[in-house]
Amino acid sequence: MTDTQRTLVLVKPDGVRRGLVGEILRRIEAKGYTLVAVELREADEALLAEHYAEHAGKPFLEPLVEFMRSGPVLAAVVEGHRVIEGFRSLAGATDPTVAAPGTIRGDLSRDWGFKVIQNLVHGSDGEESAAREIALWFPSL
Ligand code: GDP
Ligand code: MG
Repeated sequence: MTDTQRTLVLVKPDGVRRGLVGEILRRIEAKGYTLVAVELREADEALLAEHYAEHAGKPFLEPLVEFMRSGPVLAAVVEGHRVIEGFRSLAGATDPTVAAPGTIRGDLSRDWGFKVIQNLVHGSDGEESAAREIALWFPSL
């Protein structure tokens, strides 16, 4: 059996504003994953710069950080075997216009014409980024 894994999930400000926190957490729990920690908070620029360090220099970084500061986000640590891959699969493709129906992004979002893609959720993309992001958002874990 594989070791249990943890991933960092964020419900981005569009998800909180649209009242989709419950629906998104419902899908995570219905899939069988476990919520280890959940916190609603406003992320500051320093935290977001570190969180999105891999995107330094990309043209969408500034609008992305501005969007992520536009309201509270729900940060969660989610646990289960292969949860990193599993949550990315639940979330769907980055672009909600083409994300498959059945996924969070495919079912619940679309292109709203904003500068940055508003796609409801973030999920860590590998073991190393999950460890880094969990330490960043939940230093006490
Ligand atoms: P994710 O792992 O699927 O969230 O995608 P990335 O890590 O590649 O990008 C982080 C976030 O930046 C995405 O979720 C989008 O909100 C935004 N983003 C990514 N690529 C683009 C892009 O090409 N254009 C714009 N406007 N935003 C993007
Ligand atoms: Mg990513």
